[in-house]
Order: sequence, then C-alpha cells, then structure tokens
Amino acid sequence: MKGTRQLDSPWLHPRAAYVHIPFCLQHCSYCDFAVVAGRDERIDEYLDALGCELRGLQEPHPVATLFVGGGTPTHLNCVQLERLLDLLATWLPLEPGHEYTVEANPETLTDDRIALLASHAVTRLSLGAQSFSARVLTALTRSHHAADIRRSVTRARERIDTVSLDLIFGVPGTTLADWRQDLDETLSLGIGHVSTYGLTYEKGTLLWKQKRDGQVHALDEQTELTMYEHSMDRLQSAGFEHYEISSFARPGRRCRHNQVYWANHAYLGFGLGAARYVNGTREVNTRDLATYLDRCRSGRSPTMQSETLSPLDRARETLTVQLRRAEGIERMSFHAQTGFDLDELAGATIRRLVELALLADNGISVRLTRRGKCVADSLTLEFLK
Ligand code: SF4
Repeated sequence: MKGTRQLDSPWLHPRAAYVHIPFCLQHCSYCDFAVVAGRDERIDEYLDALGCELRGLQEPHPVATLFVGGGTPTHLNCVQLERLLDLLATWLPLEPGHEYTVEANPETLTDDRIALLASHAVTRLSLGAQSFSARVLTALTRSHHAADIRRSVTRARERIDTVSLDLIFGVPGTTLADWRQDLDETLSLGIGHVSTYGLTYEKGTLLWKQKRDGQVHALDEQTELTMYEHSMDRLQSAGFEHYEISSFARPGRRCRHNQVYWANHAYLGFGLGAARYVNGTREVNTRDLATYLDRCRSGRSPTMQSETLSPLDRARETLTVQLRRAEGIERMSFHAQTGFDLDELAGATIRRLVELALLADNGISVRLTRRGKCVADSLTLEFLK
C-alpha cells in the first residue's frame, strides 16, 4: 500500500540537531522567535536546564550538523559560552566532516568569543546583520551599527571557515536603491553565504502593532518583489548559487543543516521553543522560560506539543518543503522517502502550475521557475488544498 512501506532512513535517524539559546540584549520589533531579553541572570539556570534536557538522550548522539540558534548564542559571556560548547561537545559530538553553525549578532562577536567558537570546531557563523543602513537598523530596533558588521565579519573570517549574513528587505520607507546598497556592502565583505528575508509582520510583535495602528506602512508588494528579484540577479551574477528561496551560497558553502529541513529529514531539537522531527512525529518544546526551567530541572520533558503526521500528510509536507530548493522535488527520491508517487499525489496541480510557468518539470524533477520563486508561499498553499 502506498505510503506504508519501510521508508528511507533520513526520516528515522536524526544526524542533525538544533539547540536554542533564547537570550538577547533586547527584543527587536519584528521578532517572534522564542526570545528572553533583559533577563541575563537566568542564563546559568538555563544552561543547567539545557544540560538536564540533553541528559535525556541517555548517551551521546553523534551528529553531522549542529546548529546553535536563538536568540543570540553569542550574548552569553565567555564563561557561559564555553560551558554551552562543552555541554554540546559531550552530548552531541560531531561526526568527521561535520558542519557546526552558531548564530551571532555583530556587536557580540568579540575576538575572545570568536576564539572560543573556533577552538570548539565551529565551522559556520550566521550573522544577523539585517542591513548596513543606520536608518533601517533603527527602524528594526537593532542594537548594532554597520561598523560592527564589517569588523565582526573581518575578524570571524580569520578563524571560522564560512561566514553567512542574514539581510532583511522590504523595510518600511526603504527603496530599491537602499537594498542595492545593502547587497553591494555585503558582497564587498567577500563572504560565502547570504540569506535574504522579506520583512514580515508577525502577529503580536511591536512592528505588527505599529502597522495595525497606522504608525508604519508596509512597502507595496511590487517594490518588495523588485527587491527580491534584484537579490537573485545581483547575487547570482556575483557567483552565488540561489539554492533555496531565501538562501544564496558560493559553491561548496551551502548550509547543510538547513538542507536537512528542506529535505524534510529527521532532526533533533533542544532548548526553549525548539522543535524536533523524527519518524513523522513533530514535537515542540514550551516557549515559556519558567516552565522550561521547571520541567527540565525536575526531570520532566519540556515538550508541549506532539503531532504524528499521517503518511499522506508527511508526503504533502515533504513536497512543499522540497519545493523551496533549487533542485526541487526529485521523483525517485521522493518516492523512496515518502512511499508516494509524486504524480499520483499532486499531478494535476503540478501540470496546472507548469502551464502558468510557475513550475518547471523535466520528467525527473519538478522545481520553481523564477516567477514561481516570487510567489512561492501561495504556491505552497495550492499543494495543501
Ligand atoms: S537579536 Fe535576533 S533573536 Fe534576538 S530579538 Fe532580535 S531578531 Fe530576535
């Protein structure tokens, strides 16, 4: 029967792990991640609790990719950061040829923190730069300056293999010229990876409230689309591969950890609000700090949500995440992974979107066209109807 045979092992055996460090200097206006700002006195307790959660593994679990995100992991002082890195080295040892990413904010990336990360085999730094424009950084309530980005990138590149910059476009009041300037500045730094995100107004954030109350006005869709198209043109002409809707890498510099998510393979997750996905079951930890600390320290699971997807839902989800990738959905590996035939599952929708020039189908795989990438979110919905 479709969808029920023994599936490929990437569903079953996670070789990727995410660890969440929620602490930040301040809460940026647009951010809806699990963040704890201005509560640094809780960091040591948090590391205690994280250690308890990791001990739930019972034995060390080797991983090929490890991603420490946040929050701002580099907001921890050096003693705390070293404690974190040692904890992870114990419970999530790295396989040979590993990729180890840590997220950082430019103003926190001091030489001593860079040295600590390098000495613990970190291979990638993902920097939340967002923009080089003082006006945009203020609008986003970021606490760094363009000079912090340039300094931290230069210093990090001396010790860490790959440096990636996150940038945000579509900020109210900005123009295409502003965005061009941000991309030019980014390229001048000679880094290997760039992620570009359109600003979103997540419900409950300060920015969302400002928009609701008429204090800020979102950019019109066409300007935002032009910015996105400029990212594709500018970064690809500079030698970057556009390997996922929001991600650009020089050859050999793709983020292997994020590719696990876009393949819909299994991964582990630890820390406040962290998610894990193993054998079709997705679990999410509590986002409440007090609950997380209490549960972990008393030996209980911090998991607050658990959902086991049906084989059909798993296949549909795989389809939508794999569509984000430049290589799209490869029919044979999709069948091996999900047990479903892509065309039986979604043939009519694929044909309709190919006719609209939003998808390209060469018989082996299906992928987004340039036009399709511009409307990727609405295309995803077409497959979930
Ligand atoms: S620094 Fe990053 S994680 Fe922290 S509040 Fe700002 S956007 Fe969110």
